[in-house]
Amino acid sequence: ACFSLGVMVTMNQRLEADTLLLVADEFGFKIEFSDADLEESITEVEADAPEDLLSRAPIVTVMGHVDHGKTSLLDYIRKTNVIAGESGGITQHIGAYNVELEDGQRITFLDTPGHEAFTAMRARGAQVTDIAIIVIAADDDVMPQTKEAIAHAQAAGVPMIIALNKMDRPGANPDKVREQLSAMNVLVEEWGGNVQSQEVSAKIGTNMDALLEKVLLQAELLELTANPDKLGQGVVIEASLDKGRGYISTVLVQSGTLKIGDYVLAGTNHGKIKAMLDERGNPLETAGPAIPVTILGLDGAPTAGDKFRVFTDEKEAKTIANKRDQLQREQSIRTKKHLTLDEIGRRI
Ligand code: GDP
Ligand code: MG
Repeated sequence: ACFSLGVMVTMNQRLEADTLLLVADEFGFKIEFSDADLEESITEVEADAPEDLLSRAPIVTVMGHVDHGKTSLLDYIRKTNVIAGESGGITQHIGAYNVELEDGQRITFLDTPGHEAFTAMRARGAQVTDIAIIVIAADDDVMPQTKEAIAHAQAAGVPMIIALNKMDRPGANPDKVREQLSAMNVLVEEWGGNVQSQEVSAKIGTNMDALLEKVLLQAELLELTANPDKLGQGVVIEASLDKGRGYISTVLVQSGTLKIGDYVLAGTNHGKIKAMLDERGNPLETAGPAIPVTILGLDGAPTAGDKFRVFTDEKEAKTIANKRDQLQREQSIRTKKHLTLDEIGRRI
Protein backbone atom coordinates (compact mmCIF):
# COMPACT_ATOMS: atom_id res chain seq x y z
CA ALA A 1 0.00 0.00 0.00
CA CYS A 2 2.85 2.33 0.83
CA PHE A 3 4.50 1.74 -2.50
CA SER A 4 1.25 2.43 -4.31
CA LEU A 5 1.12 5.74 -2.44
CA GLY A 6 4.61 6.50 -3.62
CA VAL A 7 6.13 6.03 -0.19
CA MET A 8 9.21 3.86 -0.45
CA VAL A 9 9.74 2.28 2.94
CA THR A 10 10.95 -0.90 4.52
CA MET A 11 8.94 -2.98 6.94
CA ASN A 12 10.62 -1.63 10.07
CA GLN A 13 10.39 2.01 9.18
CA ARG A 14 8.19 4.35 11.18
CA LEU A 15 5.69 6.38 9.19
CA GLU A 16 4.67 9.98 9.46
CA ALA A 17 1.18 10.80 10.66
CA ASP A 18 0.00 11.92 7.20
CA THR A 19 1.20 8.71 5.61
CA LEU A 20 -0.40 6.61 8.32
CA LEU A 21 -3.75 8.25 7.61
CA LEU A 22 -3.47 7.50 3.91
CA VAL A 23 -2.41 3.89 4.40
CA ALA A 24 -5.14 3.21 6.94
CA ASP A 25 -7.64 4.70 4.56
CA GLU A 26 -6.58 2.19 1.89
CA PHE A 27 -7.74 -0.56 4.23
CA GLY A 28 -10.86 1.22 5.36
CA PHE A 29 -9.58 2.06 8.82
CA LYS A 30 -9.79 5.36 10.63
CA ILE A 31 -6.81 6.31 12.76
CA GLU A 32 -7.24 7.90 16.11
CA PHE A 33 -4.11 9.61 17.35
CA SER A 34 -3.59 9.34 21.04
CA ASP A 35 -0.84 11.24 22.75
CA ALA A 36 2.19 9.55 21.31
CA ASP A 37 3.76 10.06 24.66
CA LEU A 38 4.56 6.97 26.64
CA GLU A 39 3.48 8.60 29.84
CA GLU A 40 0.38 6.49 30.11
CA SER A 41 2.17 3.22 29.85
CA ILE A 42 4.68 4.12 32.51
CA THR A 43 2.57 6.06 34.96
CA GLU A 44 1.37 3.85 37.71
CA VAL A 45 -2.38 3.94 37.88
CA GLU A 46 -2.52 2.14 41.18
CA ALA A 47 -3.94 4.56 43.72
CA ASP A 48 -2.34 4.98 47.11
CA ALA A 49 -4.22 3.45 50.00
CA PRO A 50 -5.54 6.21 52.29
CA GLU A 51 -3.54 4.86 55.22
CA ASP A 52 -0.30 5.26 53.23
CA LEU A 53 -0.85 8.96 52.66
CA LEU A 54 1.12 11.19 54.99
CA SER A 55 1.01 14.96 55.12
CA ARG A 56 3.71 16.73 53.16
CA ALA A 57 5.16 20.23 52.90
CA PRO A 58 3.43 22.74 50.61
CA ILE A 59 5.25 23.71 47.43
CA VAL A 60 5.21 27.46 46.90
CA THR A 61 5.98 29.67 43.89
CA VAL A 62 6.60 33.41 44.14
CA MET A 63 5.29 35.53 41.28
CA GLY A 64 4.78 39.23 40.61
CA HIS A 65 5.84 42.28 38.66
CA VAL A 66 9.51 42.98 38.10
CA ASP A 67 11.19 44.87 40.96
CA HIS A 68 8.31 44.31 43.35
CA GLY A 69 10.55 42.14 45.50
CA LYS A 70 10.29 38.46 44.52
CA THR A 71 14.01 37.78 44.78
CA SER A 72 14.29 39.76 48.02
CA LEU A 73 11.44 37.80 49.54
CA LEU A 74 12.91 34.43 48.56
CA ASP A 75 16.36 35.50 49.76
CA TYR A 76 15.05 36.67 53.10
CA ILE A 77 13.22 33.41 53.72
CA ARG A 78 16.22 31.37 52.65
CA LYS A 79 18.61 33.29 54.87
CA THR A 80 16.49 33.35 57.99
CA ASN A 81 15.12 29.84 58.00
CA VAL A 82 18.16 27.65 57.84
CA ILE A 83 17.69 24.57 59.93
CA ALA A 84 19.14 25.22 63.37
CA GLY A 85 22.45 23.52 64.02
CA GLU A 86 23.48 23.35 60.39
CA SER A 87 26.42 25.52 59.65
CA GLY A 88 26.54 27.80 56.67
CA GLY A 89 23.61 29.14 54.80
CA ILE A 90 22.32 27.95 51.49
CA THR A 91 25.24 28.53 49.24
CA GLN A 92 24.14 27.04 45.98
CA HIS A 93 21.27 28.12 43.88
CA ILE A 94 19.50 24.90 42.98
CA GLY A 95 16.12 26.13 41.84
CA ALA A 96 14.22 25.01 44.90
CA TYR A 97 14.74 24.82 48.62
CA ASN A 98 12.99 23.50 51.66
CA VAL A 99 12.92 25.46 54.90
CA GLU A 100 12.08 24.30 58.38
CA LEU A 101 10.30 26.83 60.54
CA GLU A 102 10.78 27.11 64.28
CA ASP A 103 7.86 24.82 65.05
CA GLY A 104 9.29 22.12 62.81
CA GLN A 105 6.88 22.69 59.94
CA ARG A 106 8.36 22.74 56.47
CA ILE A 107 7.73 24.72 53.30
CA THR A 108 9.30 24.10 49.90
CA PHE A 109 9.96 27.12 47.71
CA LEU A 110 10.53 26.97 44.00
CA ASP A 111 13.33 29.45 43.61
CA THR A 112 12.58 30.41 40.05
CA PRO A 113 10.67 33.64 40.48
CA GLY A 114 8.47 34.83 37.68
CA HIS A 115 5.59 33.17 36.01
CA GLU A 116 7.63 32.08 32.98
CA ALA A 117 8.89 29.07 34.90
CA PHE A 118 5.41 28.45 36.29
CA THR A 119 3.80 28.46 32.85
CA ALA A 120 6.62 26.54 31.19
CA MET A 121 6.18 23.76 33.73
CA ARG A 122 2.43 23.79 33.34
CA ALA A 123 2.75 23.68 29.58
CA ARG A 124 4.72 20.48 30.03
CA GLY A 125 1.95 19.04 32.14
CA ALA A 126 3.75 19.42 35.42
CA GLN A 127 1.54 20.97 38.04
CA VAL A 128 4.03 21.44 40.81
CA THR A 129 2.87 24.46 42.77
CA ASP A 130 0.37 24.18 45.62
CA ILE A 131 0.31 27.83 46.63
CA ALA A 132 1.34 31.03 44.81
CA ILE A 133 2.63 34.08 46.66
CA ILE A 134 1.85 37.15 44.57
CA VAL A 135 4.25 39.93 45.49
CA ILE A 136 3.00 43.48 44.97
CA ALA A 137 5.00 46.54 45.99
CA ALA A 138 2.70 48.60 48.20
CA ASP A 139 4.30 51.81 46.94
CA ASP A 140 3.39 50.90 43.38
CA ASP A 141 0.31 49.72 41.51
CA VAL A 142 -1.07 46.40 40.35
CA MET A 143 1.06 46.13 37.24
CA PRO A 144 0.70 44.13 33.98
CA GLN A 145 2.87 41.28 35.26
CA THR A 146 0.94 41.27 38.54
CA LYS A 147 -2.22 40.72 36.55
CA GLU A 148 -0.58 38.01 34.49
CA ALA A 149 0.67 36.25 37.60
CA ILE A 150 -2.80 36.34 39.13
CA ALA A 151 -4.33 35.07 35.90
CA HIS A 152 -1.85 32.17 35.79
CA ALA A 153 -2.53 31.18 39.38
CA GLN A 154 -6.27 31.34 38.80
CA ALA A 155 -6.05 29.34 35.57
CA ALA A 156 -4.07 26.66 37.37
CA GLY A 157 -6.50 26.63 40.28
CA VAL A 158 -3.66 27.43 42.67
CA PRO A 159 -4.66 29.45 45.75
CA MET A 160 -2.92 32.82 46.09
CA ILE A 161 -1.54 34.71 49.02
CA ILE A 162 -0.93 38.40 48.35
CA ALA A 163 2.28 39.79 49.84
CA LEU A 164 2.01 43.58 50.01
CA ASN A 165 5.71 44.31 50.00
CA LYS A 166 7.91 47.36 50.64
CA MET A 167 5.79 48.45 53.59
CA ASP A 168 8.88 50.20 54.99
CA ARG A 169 8.76 52.65 52.10
CA PRO A 170 7.28 56.05 52.93
CA GLY A 171 5.06 55.93 49.86
CA ALA A 172 3.50 52.57 50.76
CA ASN A 173 -0.25 52.62 50.30
CA PRO A 174 -1.55 49.07 50.69
CA ASP A 175 -5.18 50.16 50.59
CA LYS A 176 -4.71 51.50 47.10
CA VAL A 177 -3.38 48.09 46.02
CA ARG A 178 -6.23 46.27 47.76
CA GLU A 179 -8.65 48.50 45.92
CA GLN A 180 -7.00 47.80 42.57
CA LEU A 181 -7.17 44.09 43.35
CA SER A 182 -10.86 44.30 44.19
CA ALA A 183 -11.43 46.03 40.86
CA MET A 184 -10.21 42.82 39.24
CA ASN A 185 -12.32 40.64 41.51
CA VAL A 186 -9.52 39.62 43.81
CA LEU A 187 -10.94 40.40 47.23
CA VAL A 188 -8.53 40.10 50.13
CA GLU A 189 -9.75 38.94 53.54
CA GLU A 190 -9.53 42.43 55.07
CA TRP A 191 -12.02 43.49 52.47
CA GLY A 192 -14.39 40.63 53.08
CA GLY A 193 -12.94 38.33 50.43
CA ASN A 194 -11.29 34.94 50.74
CA VAL A 195 -7.80 35.72 49.43
CA GLN A 196 -5.23 35.90 52.21
CA SER A 197 -2.86 38.84 52.19
CA GLN A 198 -0.05 40.08 54.35
CA GLU A 199 1.78 43.40 54.54
CA VAL A 200 5.52 42.73 54.63
CA SER A 201 8.92 44.20 54.07
CA ALA A 202 11.18 41.68 52.43
CA LYS A 203 14.06 44.07 52.91
CA ILE A 204 13.94 44.36 56.69
CA GLY A 205 11.89 41.26 57.34
CA THR A 206 8.79 42.82 58.84
CA ASN A 207 5.90 40.35 59.12
CA MET A 208 7.66 37.67 57.13
CA ASP A 209 6.78 35.14 59.87
CA ALA A 210 3.15 36.09 59.52
CA LEU A 211 3.34 35.55 55.78
CA LEU A 212 4.79 32.08 56.26
CA GLU A 213 2.10 31.28 58.81
CA LYS A 214 -0.51 32.14 56.22
CA VAL A 215 1.21 29.81 53.80
CA LEU A 216 0.95 27.02 56.38
CA LEU A 217 -2.67 27.87 57.09
CA GLN A 218 -3.47 27.63 53.40
CA ALA A 219 -1.54 24.38 53.19
CA GLU A 220 -3.60 22.94 56.03
CA LEU A 221 -6.79 23.75 54.15
CA LEU A 222 -5.42 21.94 51.10
CA GLU A 223 -4.68 18.79 53.15
CA LEU A 224 -1.58 18.00 51.12
CA THR A 225 -0.53 14.38 51.33
CA ALA A 226 1.71 11.89 49.56
CA ASN A 227 2.80 8.30 49.96
CA PRO A 228 6.50 8.27 50.87
CA ASP A 229 6.66 4.46 50.91
CA LYS A 230 7.17 3.65 47.22
CA LEU A 231 9.60 4.32 44.40
CA GLY A 232 10.27 8.03 43.98
CA GLN A 233 8.67 10.09 41.25
CA GLY A 234 8.36 13.78 40.58
CA VAL A 235 9.47 16.55 38.31
CA VAL A 236 12.70 18.11 37.07
CA ILE A 237 13.20 21.70 38.22
CA GLU A 238 16.41 22.44 36.35
CA ALA A 239 19.44 20.65 35.00
CA SER A 240 22.84 21.55 33.67
CA LEU A 241 26.30 20.27 32.87
CA ASP A 242 28.66 20.98 35.71
CA LYS A 243 32.39 21.13 35.16
CA GLY A 244 33.89 18.22 37.02
CA ARG A 245 30.67 16.73 38.31
CA GLY A 246 28.94 15.97 35.04
CA TYR A 247 25.22 16.40 34.56
CA ILE A 248 23.46 17.67 37.65
CA SER A 249 19.70 17.84 37.91
CA THR A 250 17.56 19.42 40.56
CA VAL A 251 14.41 17.42 40.97
CA LEU A 252 11.44 17.73 43.24
CA VAL A 253 10.12 14.48 44.64
CA GLN A 254 6.32 14.49 44.49
CA SER A 255 5.64 11.05 45.85
CA GLY A 256 7.59 8.08 47.03
CA THR A 257 11.17 8.30 48.21
CA LEU A 258 14.27 8.76 46.10
CA LYS A 259 17.43 6.95 47.20
CA ILE A 260 21.05 6.79 46.22
CA GLY A 261 21.55 3.91 43.80
CA ASP A 262 18.03 4.25 42.35
CA TYR A 263 17.76 3.94 38.58
CA VAL A 264 16.00 7.06 37.30
CA LEU A 265 14.30 7.91 34.03
CA ALA A 266 13.81 11.67 33.50
CA GLY A 267 12.47 12.78 30.14
CA THR A 268 14.84 11.25 27.61
CA ASN A 269 17.64 10.81 30.13
CA HIS A 270 18.39 8.05 32.55
CA GLY A 271 21.02 6.81 34.96
CA LYS A 272 21.81 5.53 38.41
CA ILE A 273 21.91 8.12 41.16
CA LYS A 274 25.52 8.39 42.29
CA ALA A 275 25.01 11.18 44.78
CA MET A 276 22.25 13.39 46.14
CA LEU A 277 22.72 16.81 47.65
CA ASP A 278 20.46 19.25 49.43
CA GLU A 279 20.48 22.99 48.72
CA ARG A 280 23.43 23.43 51.04
CA GLY A 281 25.50 20.88 49.19
CA ASN A 282 25.16 18.38 52.03
CA PRO A 283 24.96 14.75 50.94
CA LEU A 284 21.60 13.04 51.32
CA GLU A 285 20.79 9.34 51.30
CA THR A 286 17.07 9.71 50.70
CA ALA A 287 14.54 12.37 49.72
CA GLY A 288 10.82 12.06 50.35
CA PRO A 289 7.75 13.94 49.07
CA ALA A 290 8.07 17.72 48.54
CA ILE A 291 11.83 17.57 49.02
CA PRO A 292 14.02 19.10 46.30
CA VAL A 293 17.38 17.45 45.68
CA THR A 294 20.23 17.72 43.26
CA ILE A 295 21.06 14.36 41.76
CA LEU A 296 24.22 13.24 40.01
CA GLY A 297 24.38 10.32 37.63
CA LEU A 298 22.02 11.00 34.73
CA ASP A 299 23.41 10.64 31.21
CA GLY A 300 22.29 14.13 30.20
CA ALA A 301 20.38 17.22 31.27
CA PRO A 302 16.61 16.70 31.20
CA THR A 303 14.31 19.66 30.52
CA ALA A 304 12.66 21.62 33.32
CA GLY A 305 9.18 20.21 33.75
CA ASP A 306 10.13 16.69 32.64
CA LYS A 307 8.71 14.03 34.90
CA PHE A 308 11.07 11.55 36.50
CA ARG A 309 10.50 8.10 37.90
CA VAL A 310 12.51 5.37 39.54
CA PHE A 311 12.67 2.01 37.76
CA THR A 312 13.56 -1.32 39.28
CA ASP A 313 14.26 -2.57 35.78
CA GLU A 314 17.18 -0.64 34.34
CA LYS A 315 16.56 -2.02 30.86
CA GLU A 316 12.97 -0.82 30.83
CA ALA A 317 14.09 2.70 31.74
CA LYS A 318 16.63 2.69 28.92
CA THR A 319 14.11 1.40 26.40
CA ILE A 320 11.61 4.11 27.28
CA ALA A 321 14.33 6.78 27.16
CA ASN A 322 15.31 5.62 23.69
CA LYS A 323 11.73 5.52 22.45
CA ARG A 324 11.11 9.00 23.76
CA ASP A 325 14.27 10.21 22.14
CA GLN A 326 13.17 8.70 18.83
CA LEU A 327 9.67 10.19 19.13
CA GLN A 328 11.10 13.57 19.96
CA ARG A 329 13.32 13.48 16.91
CA GLU A 330 10.48 12.36 14.69
CA GLN A 331 8.21 15.04 16.03
CA SER A 332 10.77 17.74 15.44
CA ILE A 333 11.15 16.50 11.88
CA ARG A 334 7.40 16.40 11.49
CA THR A 335 6.87 19.94 12.68
CA LYS A 336 9.61 21.18 10.41
CA LYS A 337 8.27 19.48 7.33
CA HIS A 338 4.61 19.96 6.65
CA LEU A 339 3.21 18.27 3.59
CA THR A 340 1.48 20.64 1.23
CA LEU A 341 -1.80 19.57 -0.37
CA ASP A 342 0.07 19.44 -3.64
CA GLU A 343 2.59 16.98 -2.25
CA ILE A 344 -0.14 14.76 -0.82
CA GLY A 345 -1.87 14.89 -4.19
CA ARG A 346 1.25 13.73 -5.95
CA ARG A 347 1.65 10.85 -3.53
CA ILE A 348 -1.84 9.60 -4.25
P1 GDP B 1 12.13 41.26 41.76
O1 GDP B 1 12.45 41.84 40.41
O2 GDP B 1 10.66 41.11 41.95
O3 GDP B 1 12.88 39.99 42.05
O4 GDP B 1 12.56 42.36 42.84
P2 GDP B 1 13.86 42.41 43.74
O5 GDP B 1 13.76 41.50 44.90
O6 GDP B 1 15.06 42.30 42.89
O7 GDP B 1 13.71 43.88 44.34
C1 GDP B 1 13.78 45.04 43.54
C2 GDP B 1 14.30 46.20 44.35
O8 GDP B 1 13.40 46.49 45.41
C3 GDP B 1 15.65 45.90 44.97
O9 GDP B 1 16.43 47.07 44.93
C4 GDP B 1 15.28 45.57 46.43
O10 GDP B 1 16.31 45.87 47.32
C5 GDP B 1 14.07 46.44 46.66
N1 GDP B 1 13.16 45.87 47.65
C6 GDP B 1 12.64 44.62 47.66
N2 GDP B 1 11.85 44.45 48.73
C7 GDP B 1 11.87 45.61 49.40
C8 GDP B 1 11.26 46.07 50.61
O11 GDP B 1 10.51 45.37 51.29
N3 GDP B 1 11.52 47.35 50.99
C9 GDP B 1 12.33 48.18 50.26
N4 GDP B 1 12.53 49.41 50.72
N5 GDP B 1 12.93 47.77 49.15
C10 GDP B 1 12.71 46.51 48.71
MG1 MG C 1 14.21 39.00 40.78
